[in-house]
Amino acid sequence: MSAALQHGRCLCGAVTVSAQLADEISACFCDLCTRWSGSAMMCIDAPADSVTVSGPVKTYRSSSFSERAWCDRCGSALWLRDDGKDYEFVPGLFANAGGARLTRIVYADRAPDGWDFAGAPQRVSRAEYEKSNPFVREGEMP
Ligand SMILES: [Zn+2]
Ligand SMILES: [Zn+2]
Repeated sequence: MSAALQHGRCLCGAVTVSAQLADEISACFCDLCTRWSGSAMMCIDAPADSVTVSGPVKTYRSSSFSERAWCDRCGSALWLRDDGKDYEFVPGLFANAGGARLTRIVYADRAPDGWDFAGAPQRVSRAEYEKSNPFVREGEMP
C-alpha cells in the first residue's frame, strides 16, 4: 500500500476520485468483468475509508454481492466493489495507474485464446478463485 493519496478522473473530468491505492493491479477474465468492461477488467484495491468521490456516478448491481460504477456523462468505468469491501478502481483513472503493476490474473483459464496475457506472474483459475471466495459464482446475476 502506497501511503500517498492518488487523484484520478474519468474521461470527461466530471467524476474525480482520490484514494490510497495498492501497488498491484489484478486483471479478471470472469464473464461479468469481460462483458462489463469489454475486455479483461483491471482493478487496483483501495480501502473504503481512503476514498473520496465526486461527480455524476451511476452504479449497476452486477451480482448479489457487488456493484459496478461509471460516469453518467462520459461512460468511463470507475470501480467494482463487493459489498462492504475495498473499492477496486480501474487503473486508467490515475496517471500511470498510480504506479501500480499488473501482478495477478484471475479467471485466467477463461481468457480468450487470442489474448490471455501469457507470461504474467500469477495465474488463478476460476475454480481456485471461487474456492477462496466462496460467495462468488461467475455468471451469477441478480
Ligand atoms: Zn466522465
Ligand atoms: Zn471478474
